[in-house]
Amino acid sequence: MKVLDLQCSASHRFEGWFASEEEFQCQLHSELIECPLCGSTTVSKCLSAPHLNLASMRTASSSSSEAVVAPVSEPAIQAQWLTALRQLVANTEDVGEKFTEEARRIHYGEVQERSIRGRASPTQTRELLEEGITVLPLPQVLKDPLH
Ligand SMILES: [Zn+2]
Repeated sequence: MKVLDLQCSASHRFEGWFASEEEFQCQLHSELIECPLCGSTTVSKCLSAPHLNLASMRTASSSSSEAVVAPVSEPAIQAQWLTALRQLVANTEDVGEKFTEEARRIHYGEVQERSIRGRASPTQTRELLEEGITVLPLPQVLKDPLH
């Protein structure tokens, strides 16, 4: 079984399960792969996906609170990435200065798991990383995404 990260023409990301790479290509060319969100059959594989793994986008099997980000340099991928990030930011709770505190409480299961964003100093960020809590730095352009 192959699990592929897929993306439709509207930048919706989803997972596809295929018996093999050939099976994926075959279904793709026959337009059998549909975006579960908008039904688009214009689907492509995410390029070594900048991968977000926050609570809201996570499958039930994973257990730790982490957001993983791969460095991206291609402008086209950055654009996709920013679109995905904007959607993500719209779905996270802004906890502001309480970010590190909340991130820890979520990590240690003291509060309901959810996706949050907020402020952390470089030192706080390093401490979180050392505790195994992976945090995702938001690009400057997203600092005030809803206004
Ligand atoms: Zn879609």
